[in-house]
Amino acid sequence: MINFLDYDFSNKRVLIRVDFNVPQDKSTFEITDDKRIRAALPTLKHILNKGGSLILMSHLGRPKNGPEDKFSLKHIIPHIEKLVGKEVLFANDCIGSEAQQKSTALKSGEILLLENVRFYNEETTGDMNFANELASLGDCFVNDAFGAAHRAHASTTQIASFFPDDKMMGFLMAAEIESAEKIIKETVRPFTAIVGGAKVSDKVLIVENLLKIADHIIIGGGMSYTFFKALGGEIGDSLCENERLGTCKEIVERAEKMGVKIHLPIDSKIANKFASDAQTRNQKSAAIPEGWMGLDIGNETIKSFTKVLLNSKTILWNGPMGVFEMDAFEHGTKSIAEAVAEATKNGAYSLIGGGDSAAAVQKFGFASQVSYVSTGGGALLEYFEGKELPGISAIVN
Ligand code: AMP
Repeated sequence: MINFLDYDFSNKRVLIRVDFNVPQDKSTFEITDDKRIRAALPTLKHILNKGGSLILMSHLGRPKNGPEDKFSLKHIIPHIEKLVGKEVLFANDCIGSEAQQKSTALKSGEILLLENVRFYNEETTGDMNFANELASLGDCFVNDAFGAAHRAHASTTQIASFFPDDKMMGFLMAAEIESAEKIIKETVRPFTAIVGGAKVSDKVLIVENLLKIADHIIIGGGMSYTFFKALGGEIGDSLCENERLGTCKEIVERAEKMGVKIHLPIDSKIANKFASDAQTRNQKSAAIPEGWMGLDIGNETIKSFTKVLLNSKTILWNGPMGVFEMDAFEHGTKSIAEAVAEATKNGAYSLIGGGDSAAAVQKFGFASQVSYVSTGGGALLEYFEGKELPGISAIVN
């Protein structure tokens, strides 16, 4: 594989796939969280400092059928310009004559942003001709879009085949892979995985794969109640996926056989409605009365989960412990973030991934106190499900 640091970028037009799929204010289009753009800056700056010019490719949102103004990347130009400190040129179509002319005219140090690649269905179908048209704009290809690495799309995967000797990963992609590999390939034990969030069905594959590598699996959030019901508990009106009861039972039984300790919340903060002004009280998680629902982990649980985390040397966290977006139900997630930060201070390696847990550690001010906060949601999840990520394979192979 070509080393990004060794590559000679001088006077090269560098076609770079970034993940600028950022959240925006619906009416002003202002970016509400620019973490993904900031995370790509070291790669962009390195190429510019080495005398290359940049052709930025990204998707934004999920346009269904061709161009839609609300998904146009033109709205984020001022923000990129502010972060890079340079003018950013724009091509209104990611392929075709305008993109060709503007990329051909690029001089060393200049930046061209292409319009949303997902305005073409050929992007998501991984169309080779479309990939070829994109490839014709540049002299080499850099993939720094970890957040899109689990998609076999034209601009993340097929495009790489047109640059057999000039394709490489940027700093962000390399850092993401390094942090994930540290967990899987250099596991220092005990290894504790924390899995939370709303739905069991979204997390079944990761939990099943973690059974093979983790010593402890902490299960919190809405998904834990399906486990309690599967084990014969009463969960009132808490979130439950009845069609997953069998899966949960099986996971618990397999964990026991494999010597993996599963930790479920002993107690919950329950509420009489899904609202921040609900009546609340503390209750055993397996004995929640009708008309009440578990919306956060309770204090006894926080204590026991914290104990496990402080004894861990490797920690992976995907999914919040409760409805952390509401002040009344943020305490559990915040306390677990604090425990992960404490464990990290004591020498553990901690990786936080998945949109919501990353947002939570950010919200509670612990992002700089953990080892790594991933920019990838689905991509990181698929990595830990044991799947091959096509965007990475296309560069490596
Ligand atoms: P996910 O995207 O699956 O990681 O789920 C994240 C979402 O799960 C967040 O929006 C949380 O508010 C929600 N969540 C976490 N715990 C609960 C719970 N006990 N009941 C309902 N929703 C929850």
